[in-house]
Amino acid sequence: MPRALITGITGQDGSYLSEHLLANGYEVYGLIRGQNNPKRQHIERTWPDIKIVEGDLLDQASLMNVIQKVKPDEVYNLAAISFVALSWNQPELTGEITGLGALRLLEAIRLTTGASGSRANSAAGIKFYQASSSEMFGKVRETPQSEQTPFHPRSPYGVAKAYAHYITVNYRESYNIHACSGILFNHESPRRGPEFVTRKITIGAARIKLGLQKELLMGNLDTRRDWGFAGDYVKAMHLMMQADKADDYVIGTGEAHQGKEFARIAFERVGLNAEDYIKTDPQFMRPAEVDLLIADPTKARDELGWKPEVSFQRLIEMMVDHDLEAEARLQAAAV
Ligand code: GDP
Repeated sequence: MPRALITGITGQDGSYLSEHLLANGYEVYGLIRGQNNPKRQHIERTWPDIKIVEGDLLDQASLMNVIQKVKPDEVYNLAAISFVALSWNQPELTGEITGLGALRLLEAIRLTTGASGSRANSAAGIKFYQASSSEMFGKVRETPQSEQTPFHPRSPYGVAKAYAHYITVNYRESYNIHACSGILFNHESPRRGPEFVTRKITIGAARIKLGLQKELLMGNLDTRRDWGFAGDYVKAMHLMMQADKADDYVIGTGEAHQGKEFARIAFERVGLNAEDYIKTDPQFMRPAEVDLLIADPTKARDELGWKPEVSFQRLIEMMVDHDLEAEARLQAAAV
């Protein structure tokens, strides 16, 4: 039975990846940080097959212990401070976890497998996946963005992700570790955190429809993103790990839409006009913005046979329908 270790198990991608790997006959271990982490119980109740191990990306020794104990075949590093807006408020922590966290995990793999720096004595036994991000492209140098596009990150988050990406490439080249990097464009689902623009909109539309909220305060909805479905994207992570040669892959749909277009479709789903309810609030504007991200996923399609299944429209409908039901249930439980 292949064994996978996932950091960031409590996040959106951790849950979809776990389900995908469990369905494919894997034993799945999830790294959980901190004492009394409230998300631990949620994982244990929802996915009883996931085995929890304790450790922290800030603690090198804890990662070495986990690697020694679990002896994984595949390590997926999904853990990060992942909210761009927050990364300006906690830039150092973002660098430590999102950036150096990847290094610590790679070091844990290298040291526990005895890789010494010579390619003959390699750490090829444990495969490593790094969750890289389209935010590394930032102020884009070309459109669409491929694996060849230079990085120009625009936030402490993007800078930290760029470090983690390059250290992954470096450990692949230095120690012959099967270390791959998935440069994922924005990917959403009903499990997306409510702080991200898509979920904030779908929850807002649902609550306004139910009369629980009167308006929705947003930042800049003119920016464009390449939004896909997280459930499709975790399959690309797994495919990369099965390739003979570790490499970097851009994962996205190849379509970009404005935030206001997302909002229009979400509100239409509940029979409302988005413009009647959305107000701009400067607190949601960012010190530096990424105006347009759009993927060129040709390499992933040609080499991995990967393509997204869920359309933009379907993704929004799925999220709105989920939130309408969830908000109605919460409301019913409260009365
Ligand atoms: P990101 O691409 O990783 O930063 O994902 P987000 O979902 O956080 O943001 C996507 C885009 O939506 C960015 O250009 C944000 O500036 C924009 N945006 C506009 N209003 C909001 C808002 O209220 N919250 C968030 N999170 N983003 C917003």
